[in-house]
Amino acid sequence: MDCDIRIVPINTVDHVFLDRLAPCLEERFIAGARVERSLVVPRSTLNATRGQLFVSTLIAKVQRAHPKPGAAVLAITDFDLYKTSHRFVFGDADEAQSVAVVSVHRLRSDFYGEPSDFNMLFQRTLKECVHELGHTFGLKHCYNARCAMYYSNSIFETDNKMPHFCEICDHRLARARSS
Ligand SMILES: [Zn+2]
Ligand SMILES: [Zn+2]
Repeated sequence: MDCDIRIVPINTVDHVFLDRLAPCLEERFIAGARVERSLVVPRSTLNATRGQLFVSTLIAKVQRAHPKPGAAVLAITDFDLYKTSHRFVFGDADEAQSVAVVSVHRLRSDFYGEPSDFNMLFQRTLKECVHELGHTFGLKHCYNARCAMYYSNSIFETDNKMPHFCEICDHRLARARSS
């Protein structure tokens, strides 16, 4: 199978976690997925006052490290991400460059004062990865709150989504992939 999705860990991300994520993404996108070498992003890249990483800075770094990959690149980071217009984001994507980024920072239950839960973190991460990769495959936001392409503003909305697309988005993806 061609490698259509490259998963790039930012600094250290649990390998067991990524190895489990790859086949799930392969199934959703009917594409090959592979975990690449990690990309080092030093803490000094963070906005010092916010303690967060500007999402466009991360996308630009990932794009520079993987120019013209002929595949969608999905970076996974533990850093908390923000955008000019958003206090935080779970992830973002640059459709033209085929770069998607997802932060697990606010997907951890311990962030909300609850005991850590590997499976919950995995499900949440899968949903956000399917969402951001969906953008790189040309999908837009969906109004179906259960669909992975629904834009979540809070962890409740992420938990309410499915880790896959609604029928309409699934059809759009199939059309986009065959054109
Ligand atoms: Zn989105
Ligand atoms: Zn949808």
